[in-house]
Amino acid sequence: MKRLKSIIILLALMLVPLLAMAQEAAEYPANYARAPRFKALLYYSDTAEPAHVDFANQAIDFFNRLTYGEGWILETTTSLRDYVDRLDDFSVIIVINITPEPGREREAMERYMENGGGWLGFHAAAYNDRNTNWPWLNKFLGCGAFYCNNWPPQPVLLDIDAPESDVTRNLPASFVAPESEWYQWNPSPRDNADVEILASISPKNYPLGIKDVIRHGDFPIAWRNKNYRMVYLNYGHGDREFTDATQNLMTLNAFRYVVSRDPKGNPFEK
Ligand code: ZN
Repeated sequence: MKRLKSIIILLALMLVPLLAMAQEAAEYPANYARAPRFKALLYYSDTAEPAHVDFANQAIDFFNRLTYGEGWILETTTSLRDYVDRLDDFSVIIVINITPEPGREREAMERYMENGGGWLGFHAAAYNDRNTNWPWLNKFLGCGAFYCNNWPPQPVLLDIDAPESDVTRNLPASFVAPESEWYQWNPSPRDNADVEILASISPKNYPLGIKDVIRHGDFPIAWRNKNYRMVYLNYGHGDREFTDATQNLMTLNAFRYVVSRDPKGNPFEK
C-alpha cells in the first residue's frame, strides 16, 4: 500500500511539468493571434486576357500564404460593386489586373484614396488609354497615358532608383526580373515632382522586344506618388512573376510599406 502511494505521488510529480507545458502550448496561438491586425482586399478580373488571369491566380496564392499566421485577413473579389460603402474597412486594396467600373466604383476608389486609403497596384491596374476615360487615375499615378510595351514578355535588368526606400533598401542595386510585358508611359512619372521612382528598366536592355520593340525612353516600373498611400509595380503578366526571390521581396516590401502607413496606426506594431 505504501509502495502504491509512493508510485501515485511520483506519477503526480511527473505530471506537473507536463500539465504546465500543455497549458503554455494552449495559450501560445491564442496570445499570438488574438485578433487579425488588418484586412486587405484583393481586386482582380478572372475574365481578362489569359496571361493577366494567370498572374491573378498566382498573386492570390502569394498573398493568401502571407495570411497563414492569421495575422491579417485577405478578401478577394472580382467586383467592387458590393464594396463601394466599405472600402474603409481595408488597410490596402491590392489591384491586380482591372480598373473599377465608371460611376459608383470609381467614385468609391477616389474617395477612399483621397482620404488616406492604401493601394498596391500591378501591371494592368494602371493601364489607361484614350478609352479608359478616368482622368483621376492619371493624377493618382502621377504619369501620362500608356505609351508602349515590349512583346513578347521578357526578363529585364532592373536598376533600383531609390536605395534608401523601405520598398527597396534590402534589394541589390540591380537584378534580373522574371519575364513580363513591360509598359512605358508618356509623360514618364519621373517628370512629376510628387513621384518617387523606386526602380526602372536599365537602358542596357535596349532594344527590348522582338515583335514590339522599345528602343529608348525613360522606363520606370515601380514608383509611389507621395500624395497618396500607394505603390505601383508594373510587372504582372504571365505565370512566371513569382519565380524570383528578389522580385518577391520587392512585392512583399511594397505591401508592407503601404499597410504600415495606415493612418489608423501601423498594424505591424500592434
Ligand atoms: Zn500584360
